[in-house]
Amino acid sequence: MNIVIFGPPGAGKGTQSKFIVNKYNLYQLSTGDLLRNEIKNKTELGSEISSIMNAGDLVSDNIVSELIEKFISNNKYKNKIIFDGYPRNLKQAKNLDKMLRSHGQKIDIVLKLSVTLETVKKRILERQNQEKRADDNEEIAIKRYKTYENSSLPILDYYKGFDLLKVVNGESTISEINAEISDLIDALKG
Ligand code: AMP
Repeated sequence: MNIVIFGPPGAGKGTQSKFIVNKYNLYQLSTGDLLRNEIKNKTELGSEISSIMNAGDLVSDNIVSELIEKFISNNKYKNKIIFDGYPRNLKQAKNLDKMLRSHGQKIDIVLKLSVTLETVKKRILERQNQEKRADDNEEIAIKRYKTYENSSLPILDYYKGFDLLKVVNGESTISEINAEISDLIDALKG
């Protein structure tokens, strides 16, 4: 099973992905984490993208596409991926389908975590204290939320068209969201 977890920054995608990974033996593919690793490891790519990421802008589709292709083409992860942070625009959504198809895979469900801007601001400020991410401050968080809002509708419509979209209330407690997501995934498995 391949899952897309979707939602604005601070929606709880990472937290919920980790829960799903443990419960269903999947692998989390967080494009944000992969990109942050490049910066941490001071790679050439890392130096290219750090100012873009710190400003809260999206890095280029090609860069992210290359990173996820490595996962999708690896048999170890076949039909076991949670995409966290990808796709971020309609082009990426179509690209993801194409890449999966060329490796004999597909997306089975898209889980959208819905949260308000107020909640995003609160959670990002909490995360800032724990993770010290350069893009976790109020101004950049608002920018990232707006970027999400501007690009999410076409993606959501796209997945609705394939009847893959399930909306989850991201304002609930972590364990309530865990339970709702489990029910949705279990229903798929039949
Ligand atoms: P995230 O950890 O998902 O909040 O992503 C942090 C940052 O990484 C984003 O603000 C972007 O700069 C970059 N990023 C992550 N995923 C993507 C993507 N799919 N396309 C472009 N940029 C991305």
